[in-house]
Amino acid sequence: MTTSLATPPSYADTPTLLVKIFGKDRPGITAGLFDTLAAFAVEVVDIEQLVTRGRITLCALVTAPSTGTATEGELRATVHSWAESMKLEAEIISGTGDNRPRGTGRSHVTVLGHPLTAETTAAIAAAITSTGGNIDRIFRLAKYPVIAVEFDVSGTETPGLRTALAMEGARHGVDVAVVASGLQRRAQRLVVMDVDSTLIQDEVIELFAAHAGCEEQVAEVTARAMRGELDFEQSLHARVELLAGLDESVVEKVRTEVRLTPGARTLVRTLKRLGYQVGVVSGGFTQVTDALQEELGLDFAQANTLEVVDGKLTGRVTGEIVDREGKARLLRRFAEQAGVPLAQTVAIGDGANDLDMLNAAGLGVAFNAKPVVREAAHTAVNVPFLDTVLYLLGITREEVEAADGEEDED
Ligand SMILES: [Mg+2]
Repeated sequence: MTTSLATPPSYADTPTLLVKIFGKDRPGITAGLFDTLAAFAVEVVDIEQLVTRGRITLCALVTAPSTGTATEGELRATVHSWAESMKLEAEIISGTGDNRPRGTGRSHVTVLGHPLTAETTAAIAAAITSTGGNIDRIFRLAKYPVIAVEFDVSGTETPGLRTALAMEGARHGVDVAVVASGLQRRAQRLVVMDVDSTLIQDEVIELFAAHAGCEEQVAEVTARAMRGELDFEQSLHARVELLAGLDESVVEKVRTEVRLTPGARTLVRTLKRLGYQVGVVSGGFTQVTDALQEELGLDFAQANTLEVVDGKLTGRVTGEIVDREGKARLLRRFAEQAGVPLAQTVAIGDGANDLDMLNAAGLGVAFNAKPVVREAAHTAVNVPFLDTVLYLLGITREEVEAADGEEDED
């Protein structure tokens, strides 16, 4: 079949052969197979090849040889004898046409296992099937710091699939993220993160409280806020009040005490290399977020500011208050400044005051969050490594490490 470039070839009614080769991988197998097939002047409709622990699986879908030149029988015999000479297994299946078109309703399902057991994999696959979805492709995104496997699913709507898999993931102690496939996923260009217990492992107010000797009082206010007796702004003011009189020099000490979440640097560095803009919004304090912005090269940072008068904290905050609504408002502002539509933003956070931001973003990721946040977000990560968010964006560990390697050579 010869077609002009203007019309894509249609193999709908064409007899085709699926040629599958399996065996020990070594150089020259792909060239050898196609060299063998070339003698029959067949066209390549599709190819897939992968290597798992040194074993190659090569599938070639080719048109059957046209009658009059060579017969299908001759092709079969030739391929089998080549495979035998290479100590490979070959299977050839006759049929018609190309792959069946993928169903509508397409999603990427990312499973983060730590470890990933066969039992869990069976449960995930069965849950996908139960929603009417079909698994079209499976591949490993990463083996470090967790096993990340992506299932490409079609034939079912993303929200229903997400609900079914969230329950199954929780039951088996793995994270399952479901995102709609399409260009949107590749186009995500702004990531905005919460700071306390997300970008960093600490709650900054608690670090200050330790220096002021009022940890218990701060914890009590936090508990009241969690019980719903105080809203975020009230609890912020009540906690900051307890810091009144603290010497300004404590700010520097707190900055050095802050511990980044494992994977934070890798996440930010990789996103920046891919051309993303990255920002933080925090109900904590600019005294800490400004330093983080500089250290990590963040494009945006906004937080509350502790007022300092005559070298002492006054127990008040100044400027625009960053609370639950404030975080969502800042996400919108950063997106506007970055020239990125909201649908192409990713927000990451752990607390109830991140919920508006997580819901406003194109993709909201609950990071080691409380159940109420986890349930309301698009997707959740419950392993303590921030770089696993990259896998939800379809970025593989290999790509991360390759980029790091290139940088080292510079
Ligand atoms: Mg937080």
